[in-house]
Formats: sequence, C-alpha cells, structure tokens
Amino acid sequence: RFQLWHSTCPEIIHRPASALKELLENCLDAGATSIRVTVKEGGLKLLQIQDNGCGIRKADLPILAERFTTSKISTFSDLTKIATYGFRGEALASMSHVAHLSVVTKTKSETCAWKAHYLDGVLVEGKPGQTVDPKPCAGNDGTTIIIEDLFYNTPTRLAALKSTSDEYARILDVMTKYAIHNPKVAFVCKKVGSNTPDLSTPPNADKPQAIRMLYGNAISKDLLHASFGAKKVQEAEGVEDVEMADAEDTNRPESWSAEARFTNPNYQSKKMVFLLFINHRLVESPRMKRALENVYSGILPKGASPFVYLSLQIDPRDVDVNVHPTKKEVHFLNEESITDQITSRLQRALAAQSQ
Ligand code: ADP
Ligand code: MG
Repeated sequence: RFQLWHSTCPEIIHRPASALKELLENCLDAGATSIRVTVKEGGLKLLQIQDNGCGIRKADLPILAERFTTSKISTFSDLTKIATYGFRGEALASMSHVAHLSVVTKTKSETCAWKAHYLDGVLVEGKPGQTVDPKPCAGNDGTTIIIEDLFYNTPTRLAALKSTSDEYARILDVMTKYAIHNPKVAFVCKKVGSNTPDLSTPPNADKPQAIRMLYGNAISKDLLHASFGAKKVQEAEGVEDVEMADAEDTNRPESWSAEARFTNPNYQSKKMVFLLFINHRLVESPRMKRALENVYSGILPKGASPFVYLSLQIDPRDVDVNVHPTKKEVHFLNEESITDQITSRLQRALAAQSQ
C-alpha cells in the first residue's frame, strides 16, 4: 500500500512553506498582480491563497487534482522544456493527498465562480469517492486555493515539523523572496482574524523598493546592481555588459544571463541573506552560496554578512532533470563555470566600490 501511495503521490509537499511555494508559482504563472495569503496555525490548519489571475475554466475542474494535470504543456517541444523542472502537474494532486483541498475560481468569461473540493486526486463532496460537479458560487475573477488540515493523515510528517510559529516564519520567508523577485505584484500575508498583515507590498514597485520594504532601509541604500551573462538575453533589462564565454562540456554554447543585487562592503547584516532564482523559481545552491560568501569574506569585518539577490536565466534544457523538486537544491550545466563568472563579476564590482 505504501508503494501504491508513493507511486501516485511523490513527496513534493513536506511543510506548509513548500506547499505555499507551489501555490505562489501557480498564481504567478496565471498572471496574477495581487496575491493574498491567509494562514492559521502556521499553515497546518489553513493555508489560503487568493489571486486575481486568469482563473481555471469550469471544464478543467473535474480533473484539476489528478496527477499530471497541467495547462502548461500543449506540444511535445513544450514537454522537453517544462520537464526540466521535473514532475510538473503534481502540486495540486499531491496536496489533495495530504490535505483537504478546495478551489474557488472564475475566469473572465464565466458569469459566476465555481467551487470544488478534492480528496486523493478526485473532485468530491461529502463522502470520498463520490464524484460530483463543481458548485456555482459568488467570487471575483481569479483563483482561491484553500488547503486545510495539512498532513492530517500523515502523523509522522506532522511530528517532524517544528512549532507553528516556525512554520509561519518559513511562509513569510518564501513570500518575502517571491515579493522581491516579483515587485510588480502586490503580496499580502496575514494570520486568520488579524487586521494587520505581517507582509504587505504595493503593486508596481521596483526591486530596490521591494528590498527596502522587506529588508529595511539600510540595505537598499548600499545596494549594488549588475546584469550580465554569457549571451545577451533580450528580456534582460539594463544589461550593463555582455561577456562571451567559451562553451564547455557541451556542443551548445553557454547561454545564460544574471541579474544581481548585492550589498556593498559597508553594509553589515548578522546573517547572510541569499536569494537565488533560476528561471523564476526559488531554489537553493549551497555551492553558489559558499562561493559568494567567500567573495565577501575578505572584505567584510568579522561577523558581518552580505545580502545577495541573484536571478539566473538558464536554457531550461540545461537544468538538471534528475533532481527531484522537493530537493530545492538544483544542478545545472556549466554550474562551476557560471558560478566562477558570477563571483568574479561581483568581486570586481566590490573592488571598484572600495577604491
Ligand atoms: P503545474 O503548475 O505544474 O501545471 P499544478 O498541480 O501546480 O501543476 O497545477 C495544475 C494546473 O492547475 C495548472 O497547470 C493550472 O492550469 C491550474 N492552476 C493551478 N493553480 C492555478 C491558479 N492559481 N490560477 C490558474 N490556474 C491554476
Ligand atoms: Mg504548479
């Protein structure tokens, strides 16, 4: 039975913050400009996320929480690109196996919103296994996803979590990072019943504004900015300089671009803050983090740490397909060479500052 469950439900969700990360990405994929999160008991009792994105068509609701249901692939070539994240179309399916999942959604062309509940991948009402149609209800354009009683059926998972306040801190951390990466989008996060949000950003901000708002004034006044890469990428705004790198380990030339926001040597925070986005997904790279720490280690006083925000755009074909998404750690082609180029670029910028 375990094998059956395991094979139908990979462990993509291991804590409220990892569920939230998936849900945030869905809102952003749906083109939302406003994302409001409401939390109860660190997200274990309730994790609700409301967006004003494109909504989900009523006709798509019956299979929404089935594994591999995704609106993000329509051609085979799409598949080779999307598959590089691995295991797509699994987030909502996974959540319906470890929580009570409800969806309220309305597209622009629909006259009312539709509500549906899911259990173990199936649209249900009342008893599990009893399939029904979505119900009409009032609602604005966009989607609200409601996750209740997360891990109610997996006590070991629940026991492995720390306090609800720790889980809430992780939720705020994930939201803070996405809010910085998406400064045009208005983010709100609050606890149920509270009138004052714990995180709130306005729409149409820019990155320095978002960083100032979320990490404090001191940080943004000393922030340095660099955009660079191995090949000029059209979308990259304000490309400062373009460095051509030699291709390594592959017939394809290295093709990537990076945007960095990082503190100058005068800024001192207690703990290193490192935000890494690869192709707009929040990921972790201990190797990259260590390399950046080393860049600063010589120039910061003892005990001081930097803030580094890095957004990398890499050919999706170069991001490792074999790393399961639950391991937020990623690997990509030419990782060493790209890391070297990024650190030397930062090194030069910092050296220029201290002159
Ligand atoms: P994936 O994002 O990989 O496609 P998910 O399980 O996260 O898989 O979501 C399944 C599908 O549900 C998405 O492809 C999308 O069509 C739809 N969906 C989920 N959340 C939203 C949302 N907030 N707004 C619009 N559509 C959504
Ligand atoms: Mg998704």
